Amino acid sequence: MDSREKGLEKTLERLLRGETPGFDEAMRLATEADAGSLEAAADELRRSLHGDVVYYNRNLHFEPTNVCVYACRFCAFRRPVGAGEGDGAWTKGTDDLLRELERRPVGSITELHVTGGVHPDRGLEWAEELLRAVRAARPEIHVKAFTAVEIDYFARRAGLSVEETLLRLKEAGLDSLPGGGAEIFAPEVRKRIAGGKAPAQRWLEVHEAAHRLSIPTNATMLYGHVEGWEHRVDHLLRIRELQSRTGGFRAFVPLRYRNGNNGLSALPEIPPEEERRVFALSRLLLGNVPHLKVYWVMSGVDRALRLLRCGGDDLDGTIDDSTRIYSMAGGDEHPRFGEKEMRAAIEAAGFVPVERDSLYRPVAR
Ligand code: SF4
Repeated sequence: MDSREKGLEKTLERLLRGETPGFDEAMRLATEADAGSLEAAADELRRSLHGDVVYYNRNLHFEPTNVCVYACRFCAFRRPVGAGEGDGAWTKGTDDLLRELERRPVGSITELHVTGGVHPDRGLEWAEELLRAVRAARPEIHVKAFTAVEIDYFARRAGLSVEETLLRLKEAGLDSLPGGGAEIFAPEVRKRIAGGKAPAQRWLEVHEAAHRLSIPTNATMLYGHVEGWEHRVDHLLRIRELQSRTGGFRAFVPLRYRNGNNGLSALPEIPPEEERRVFALSRLLLGNVPHLKVYWVMSGVDRALRLLRCGGDDLDGTIDDSTRIYSMAGGDEHPRFGEKEMRAAIEAAGFVPVERDSLYRPVAR
C-alpha cells in the first residue's frame, strides 16, 4: 500500500469513527478512493446504524401546481406564470387534495408530502388554509410540506421572518419539511442552473430555523449536471456542519439529474457507477445524518436496490402514482410501487423491510 492509499484508508477510518474531514481530505476521498473501498466503508457505516433494515413508508404526494415564478434550467415540471391547461399547466386547490385523501381510507397512508411550483398568487394564508383543512379531515396523517424555496417565498410575500412564517405553518398543522430546493449550494453552479431562487444561505437559514422550532427536515442534493466533485463535497460538508449544530435533519436524499424536457437536456446523464460513488460518499460524509434515502422514482427500482449496498437505508414511499416531478424529466418508472412489491424487492436484495412513519419509528400493524 503506498502513502496515498494509506492516507485514504486513514480518512475512511476517521469517518467511521464519526470525525469530520477537511475539504481537501474529503475531495481526495471523492476523486481518488477506489470504488470498492468506498462502497464497502459506506455499507459498514450503514450497517452500524441500521443493520439489515431498509425502511419505507406509505405516502401520498400532492403537487398543488406546476406554475412557478422561477425558471430553474433543470426543471421539466415548471410552467410559466400565465400558462394554461393547453400548455400543460395545472393548479389544484384544497378541495382537490381532500378528494385525493378521501380515496385513501384511514390507515392506508401515514404521510402526505406536499411540494410544487411557487405560484405567484399563493402565499402564507393559502398554505395555512390547506394545512388546517388536512389537519381537520385527517388528523392521523403526518404532513411534510413546502420546500425552503416555498417557505422563503411565503415569508417575503407576507413581510415576515422565516421563523414567524414557520411558526404559523406549524400552528396550522405542518409536521416537517421536505429537503427540496437545495440543488447545489455553490453560487457559481446555483446561478447557472437555478438563478433567481433562494440562495444557499437562505435555504440553510430556513432549515436551521425549522430545527430551532423542533420541525424536523430532510436535505437533498441535485447532482449529475454541470457541477464537479468539489461542489458536491462542499454541499455535503455544509449539511454536515448545520447538522452538527442542530441535529434536525432526518434524512439526506441525493437526486440524480434527469435530462428529459428541460433547459439542460443537452447534458448526458451520469453512469450508474458515478451514482453509486455519490451515494457512498454521501453516507460517509454525512455520518451524523441518520438516514440516506434512495428515491426510487428517480433512480428506477433496479438501480435503487443496488444503491442500498452503497449506504442507502430508506426507499422512500409507495407514492401511489401521485408525483410528476421526475416522470416529466424522464424518470424510468411509472411512479407506482405497491407495498407488497416493495417488501418483496427489499427482501430479494437481502434486507429486512420495515415500514416506518415519518419520524422513522416502525409502524405496528
Ligand atoms: S425546480 Fe421548483 S422552483 Fe425551480 S422552476 Fe421547478 S418548480 Fe420552480
